[in-house]
Amino acid sequence: MYPTVDPLAPNGISRRSFFRFAAGASAVASLPILTEAHLAYAERPRFADPNKGIHIDANENPMGPSEAARQAIIDIVPRGGRYLFSGEEELTGIFAKQEGLSAESVIPFAGSSAPLHYTVLAFTSKDRPLVTADPGYEAPMWAAKVSGASVIKVPLADPKGEARHDIKAMLAAASNPGVIYLCNPNNPTGTCTPRSDIEYAVANAPKDTVLLIDEAYIHLCDAPRSLDFVKEGKNVVVLRTFSKLYGMAGLRMGFAIGRPDLLAKISSLGGMNALPITAVAAAKASLLDADLVSTRKKIIANTRMQTLAWLKSEGYRCTPSESNCFMLDVRKPGKEVQAALAAKDMYVGRIWPAWPNSLRITVGTADEMMAFRKDFTEVMNSNTAGLVPPEMPRRLQQAPFTHLS
Ligand code: PLP
Repeated sequence: MYPTVDPLAPNGISRRSFFRFAAGASAVASLPILTEAHLAYAERPRFADPNKGIHIDANENPMGPSEAARQAIIDIVPRGGRYLFSGEEELTGIFAKQEGLSAESVIPFAGSSAPLHYTVLAFTSKDRPLVTADPGYEAPMWAAKVSGASVIKVPLADPKGEARHDIKAMLAAASNPGVIYLCNPNNPTGTCTPRSDIEYAVANAPKDTVLLIDEAYIHLCDAPRSLDFVKEGKNVVVLRTFSKLYGMAGLRMGFAIGRPDLLAKISSLGGMNALPITAVAAAKASLLDADLVSTRKKIIANTRMQTLAWLKSEGYRCTPSESNCFMLDVRKPGKEVQAALAAKDMYVGRIWPAWPNSLRITVGTADEMMAFRKDFTEVMNSNTAGLVPPEMPRRLQQAPFTHLS
């Protein structure tokens, strides 16, 4: 049996002092919805100007929105004085039609972080734990903190090989989980869990447990999608986002897809707010761009494969990613390497406590990854022993979060 964990504990995911403001019992009820951006920012060894240096630390897409999406934004701006709910309906309708879903089984949100947070809030509680993979995306653990649920982290199976979710162990980890969270492909490893394992989870999870299948990165790989479980009326909620392949992280658009009764519970926590019409227009244009997914998937895959091949030729082990991020085993404390790279204005992703010698690397542009090779070689040939990232200036420590508390 795996121990339950406190994500706010010192050896948990909170490794920067500015998260401490949220750790007091009185603050728990108002914990913010934490996103990849917050978590990446929390790990940035010193305050970094996003316009300076190379940022391969937040699984963003340096290509940004597509040309069609940019034009759609420009075209819709003059109508920015209106709410235009019809645009949301249109967007949902296009997605539902493309995927063969009923429109009632899709709700749009400003990104997928909100429905992720709400799903955990809606279906976990003090008596209904969250089961998640380790290393895995931390946001659901923070939501569990709000609902008072315990968190059970189950190590990935075959960590030196496929690094897939250990579905049988996850199902055995609790008798009555409220939510089992499956991230496919997984953040941070970029690895996919075989379809047969996901089918096993759907078939064998306790009948009132919700399987939350996070497909934030699914467009980047060929793995089978999980929307068919929704069509079959299973206890499954699938999350999609426009933040990754579509390059709209700063614009904010995503979907929760599930049975209408499950979606009703999720949206009752905050799903009816009007969405920015610029993001709705850009998302619509992105969905209607027939070549976008395949073109971008190929570009990112090429850069990823070249980077992974180079690292392998240099003797390093990486997770077999099918996504825009991977874990790189640096064979010494990842913190030191992260700090040394940051000193060169090369910002790489965070370290998970379960794998302290690995760093998450986001696949940037081809040029950025060539710069990474150079800096990484220099850093690994230097003595990094004892290097610790300096704290952020005090005045910046809480700044990004104050409006959320
Ligand atoms: N899920 C996973 C696994 C992620 O990595 C992210 C962001 O990086 C998200 C969800 C949420 O992204 P967003 O709120 O931008 O859609």
